Amino acid sequence: MKLCRFDHNRIGLVRGSNVHDVSAILDALPPLRYPAPFGDHLIAHLDDLRPQLERLADEAVPKRADGIRFLSPVANPSKIIGTPVNYRAHAEEAENDRQIAVYLENRSLSIEEQGLFLKASSSLVGPSEGVAVRFPDRRTDHEAELGVVIGRKTGPIAEADALGVVAGYAIALDMVVRGKEDRSFRKSPDSYAVLGPWLVTADELGDPGALDFTLHVNGERRQAANTRDMIIGIARQIALASSVYTLYPGDIMMTGTCQGVGPVKPGDVMTLAFERIGEMTVAVR
Ligand code: MN
Repeated sequence: MKLCRFDHNRIGLVRGSNVHDVSAILDALPPLRYPAPFGDHLIAHLDDLRPQLERLADEAVPKRADGIRFLSPVANPSKIIGTPVNYRAHAEEAENDRQIAVYLENRSLSIEEQGLFLKASSSLVGPSEGVAVRFPDRRTDHEAELGVVIGRKTGPIAEADALGVVAGYAIALDMVVRGKEDRSFRKSPDSYAVLGPWLVTADELGDPGALDFTLHVNGERRQAANTRDMIIGIARQIALASSVYTLYPGDIMMTGTCQGVGPVKPGDVMTLAFERIGEMTVAVR
């Protein structure tokens, strides 16, 4: 199943090149009481609601996906977790680039030794909202990544069980301004986390560790790799994250980028494509 949020917070299922409006599903969610639990209310109930979602989609009049404004398929993540330098060829390019390397004093350490990082939840947008460059005089880079969306609350979990807590996958952009500040500052301006265009449920996607992906800027190819090139795989990243943070439904993991990162400026258009997920276009302003 491919789940999206679009236009003014409509919920849709994507079938082929069409979107079926299933927003009536929101009436089936249990009412929230203060204090609202951490996480995304829809993702938390996704498993239970699937039969109803499919039924609503069957009854909906399909709209063509190409005219639709896609928002992030997750509305309320409690956190966005990032994995540092997780592709070898990107590690090499980072070492050779002064502007990237400024923060890589720990580059001889393993990912487990460095730990993960967090991006502010408020940085999250969908592809149609675009990326707003926050420091026009500095270098803002694109990082194409596989996005993993957690499906249920979990404490520490073993690597062997970790993929079992995944709701699904989406295309992610971990935008970053280069410089000397802490990662959580440079990667968290509003719109510096893009997720879209929809969530592909884990059962439909299959193995997340064998997906070709690309990122183009204005039609020029910048990044291309396969998720099998990751230094530590998705299950291990989830296990590592869960050893530190309780994971909640809707939490997003950005699993690291490959070689070919580079700057964007207002007016550029980024196009990202992931095998078995789809394609998303993101304007820079
Ligand atoms: Mn990244």
